[in-house]
Amino acid sequence: MTVVPEGDIAGLMSAEAAFEAVEATFAAMSRRSAYNFPVIREAIGHADALYGFKSGFDRDALALGLKSGGYWPGNAARGLTNHQSTVILFDADTGRVKALVGGNLLTALRTAAASAVSIKHLARPDAKVLGMVGAGHQSAFQMRAACAQRDFDKVVGWNLHPEMLSRLSDTAGELGLPFEAVSLDELGAQADVIITITSSFDPILKAGQIRPGTHLACMGTDTRGKQEVEAALLTRATVFTDEIAQSVSIGEAQHAVAAGLLAESDVAEIGAVINGTHPGRRSAEEITLFDGTGVGLQDLAVAAKVVELAEARGVAQKIPF
Ligand code: NAD
Repeated sequence: MTVVPEGDIAGLMSAEAAFEAVEATFAAMSRRSAYNFPVIREAIGHADALYGFKSGFDRDALALGLKSGGYWPGNAARGLTNHQSTVILFDADTGRVKALVGGNLLTALRTAAASAVSIKHLARPDAKVLGMVGAGHQSAFQMRAACAQRDFDKVVGWNLHPEMLSRLSDTAGELGLPFEAVSLDELGAQADVIITITSSFDPILKAGQIRPGTHLACMGTDTRGKQEVEAALLTRATVFTDEIAQSVSIGEAQHAVAAGLLAESDVAEIGAVINGTHPGRRSAEEITLFDGTGVGLQDLAVAAKVVELAEARGVAQKIPF
C-alpha cells in the first residue's frame, strides 16, 4: 500500500494537475463511465462532529475508493483543522487496498478546480472582473484557480464578516491584481464571473443584482438547507452542475426545485459541455450558473493523481498490507 501523508500533498500536487483530473472526471461522469455512490453524512453524537463517506468508481481511470471524514468544530482549539478527511483507494481488479492519502488540501484543490472548470467552459472569454462572495479557507484556492482561466484585471469581494476580507485582498495581491471590497449591488454590477463560497443558509445574492452575461460558480451549498443565491436567479440562468442528483437535493438548485421554479430536467451536467454534447453558453447575454456540490469522484481523481506523482518521483511511502 502507498501512503501519502497530508504533509506531502503540497509538494506533490498542483492546481493544474487538480484541474485536469477534475475535468476528466466530470467528462467520464457524463459519459456514464464513472458514477458516485450515495453519500453518507451523520451527526455522530460525539464532539459535535459530522462524519461521512463520499465514494464512487471511475471505470475508465479505474479509480475506486472513498473519501471519509467530516467536520469537528472543536479542532481549531486543539490547533487542528476543523475539516478532516482521508482518501482510501482500492485496486479495482482485486479489491485490495492500494493507497491512503491525506484529503484536506486535496479537498480545497479539487473544489477550486471544479469552479475553474466551469469558468473555462461557461464564462465569457472577455471576462475581466472576478467577484468573490466568501472569504473563508476555500476562497483563496477558488480565486487562484479562477484566475488561471481568464485574464481578469480586478477582483471585487464581499463577505458577511468583513474582518475576513484581508484573505481576498492578500490573495489578489499575490496574483498581481487590485482588490476592492464592495457591496453586493456593486459586486453584481461589476463582476463578469462570480464565485460564491460561504456557509450561508439564506440567499446572499438576489436575482436582480446579477447582470446579463455573468457566470456564477456557486460552491458553498453542499448540504440540505444551505443557500447562497435567490432561487429566482436559477430561472434567469442556464443551470449546470457536477451531478444532477446532488444539485437538486443538496446543491443550490434544491430551493428552486422545491419551490417549483426549476425542474430536474432544466439542470445540465458540466461534463456534457466538456464532452461537446451540450453547447454550454449560447450568447454573450446569457447568465450561466454552475452548482458545484462536490462529488466523491473528484476526491478519487486527485488522490489517484497524487499517488501517481509520488510514485513517479520515487517518494511514495510503501508499507506491506
Ligand atoms: P470557512 O469556515 O473557512 O468560511 C466560511 C465562509 O462563509 C466565510 O466567508 C464566512 O464569512 C461565511 N459565512 C459563514 N456563515 C455565513 C452566513 N450565515 N451567511 C453568509 N456567509 C457566511 O469555510 P470554507 O472552508 O471556506 O468553506 C466554505 C463553504 O464551502 C462551506 O460551507 C463548505 O461546506 C463548502 N464546501 C463546499 C465544497 C464543494 O465541493 N461544493 C467543498 C468544500 C467546502
